[in-house]
Parts: sequence; C-alpha cells; structure tokens
Amino acid sequence: MSTTSYVFAKPHLLGIAGLNFPEAVSLLDRAEGYVEQSRQTDKTSNKLHGLTQINLFFEPSTRTQSSFEIAGKRLGMDVVNMAVQSSSVSKGETLIDTAMTLNAMRPDLLVVRHGASGAAELLSQKVDCAVINAGDGQHEHPTQALLDALSIRRALGSLAGLRIAICGDIAHSRVARSNVILLNLLGAEVRLCGPPTLLPSDADRWGAEVFHNMDDALNACDVVMMLRLQTERMNSAFIPSSREYFRFYGLDRTRLGKAAKGALVMHPGPMNRGVEIDSDIADDPKISLITAQVEMGVAVRMAVLDMLAEAKNKDTHE
Ligand code: ASP
Repeated sequence: MSTTSYVFAKPHLLGIAGLNFPEAVSLLDRAEGYVEQSRQTDKTSNKLHGLTQINLFFEPSTRTQSSFEIAGKRLGMDVVNMAVQSSSVSKGETLIDTAMTLNAMRPDLLVVRHGASGAAELLSQKVDCAVINAGDGQHEHPTQALLDALSIRRALGSLAGLRIAICGDIAHSRVARSNVILLNLLGAEVRLCGPPTLLPSDADRWGAEVFHNMDDALNACDVVMMLRLQTERMNSAFIPSSREYFRFYGLDRTRLGKAAKGALVMHPGPMNRGVEIDSDIADDPKISLITAQVEMGVAVRMAVLDMLAEAKNKDTHE
C-alpha cells in the first residue's frame, strides 16, 4: 500500500483553516492508499490495532458517522459510537462533563459532531486524545472538504487552475466554509452563488467571487458543488418556496449546460432532490461525483485517523 511518510505536526483536526499545503496534500496522498485497501476483499489492516476511537455525534448523521466507524474498523481500531440521545447528555450533562467522562476511559481518537461552532475546539482543550471535527455548527467540516478535494483530484488530475462553483445555502454551510479554504489552498478558483438571503454578509471576504445569478456563476466552471437548504439552522423563512428556489438556484441539465463542457457535479448529501438538484443530474454517473464522494469519505477519514494517531505516537516517544 502506498502511504506517504509525511508526519503530521498537528495534534487535532479541527478545521481546514490552519492546514498548510504539504499537510493537505499529504492527507490526500495517504488517502489514495486507503482507496486501494478499501477495494480489496480483505479491507481490514491492523495498523491502529489496540487503539480506541469514540464517535460522539450530537447531531444526526448517516454518512459521516458510518464513514468514520468503517474507517476506524478498517484500521483495526476498537470503535465505539456514543448514542448521545440515550446518554447522560439528555439528562443535562454538559459537553465538557461528557468529554471528561469519555476522556477517563482513555480513548485515542475522539470524533465529534456538534451543533455549536467551536465545540470541537473546546473539547480538544479538555481531553488528552486527538480530536477530529466531524462538523461544528456552521463553522467547519474538514473531512468533507478533504474528501471533496480527493474526488476532484482523482477525476480531473489536479485542482490547480480549476474553476469551481459552490451553490445554494452558503450561509448555513460548514461544507462551504471548509471547501473555500481548501480549494483555494490547492490552487482552484472558487465561486459562491446563492440568493442574497443565503449568502453570509462577509462572503466577499472568503476568498471567492460572489454571484446571485446561477447562469453567470456556472459560466466556464469545471465543477459545480450543490448544497442542501439547511432548514434546521434557519430561524425564519429564507426563501419564498422550494419550487421557486429550484427555478432560480436548482441544478438541472439545461443549467449545467452553462458550465464548461464535461463539467462535474457534486453534493455532500443528504440531497433534496427537486429542491437544489434534479435526479437526472445527480444519478448520471458520467457527470455526478456523488457516489465517489461517499467512497472517498472512508479513505480520507482513514488517512486522518492514521495521521493523527501517528503524530501522537511520535510525540509520546520523543
Ligand atoms: N452532511 C453535510 C453536513 O453535515 C451537509 C448537509 O448536512 O447538508 O454539513
């Protein structure tokens, strides 16, 4: 299996912000080896045998939680999923109390998803193990951005010089935030597009060109990344109706025609078919990277778990 010998210098993965180019590329390179491992009949190694990974998800998740669980198991770890709904958290235990309790069980890696921006960072200050942010509020979702970058790199060879549009509910999206930072770091040109109500007021300072018109935003783009309307984070009506939203901001084959020839389509899931994306596009394997994104998710998470475990091991032996 080809894995790079680069040793990650960070104790946690809390966001893409703060990662440098070699760190990002080495994570992607290492993930390539894990794509190969995951395509074998025997997918499990004992690389991290003996270590314990705890998945602590305070928000619902299908893809991310199962992907982290599979990733940990493929590396030979003991993986525990904390059922937060049925735990002491529902009896009023605070985030920090929960973290301290788990910390006393001596996990090596703690994967956290929480509705509050900054929750993963707060936890990382209280526990001894490596913390991985699996999505904190509207802030960051670093492994999503890494798996997106890996999917694009495998499909198009390199990210440098690509024009990539991220469209939809940018304001509530941690996926958009992490992606803008990573895609810029890897040399792509990023565009953001959505109705004014769904773009953050500081979007022009994110390092991306901002559009309100989809046809303009898609012009000559190599990749179009569609985002879900995150209604669970909306405290009022941000769009008149989902039918109207699709008319102006939804992606169908006609609208995709505005992008570069052969443009690829992505979506982090879960998709709202007919609201932000047409099934005809989402399910077309010639243009949709959506299934590849899910596959790359496991490989990228294996790389992240492995890199952080290795960094910790090096630290304790120095
Ligand atoms: N799954 C992604 C997230 O957790 C995107 C979404 O929920 O729309 O942020």
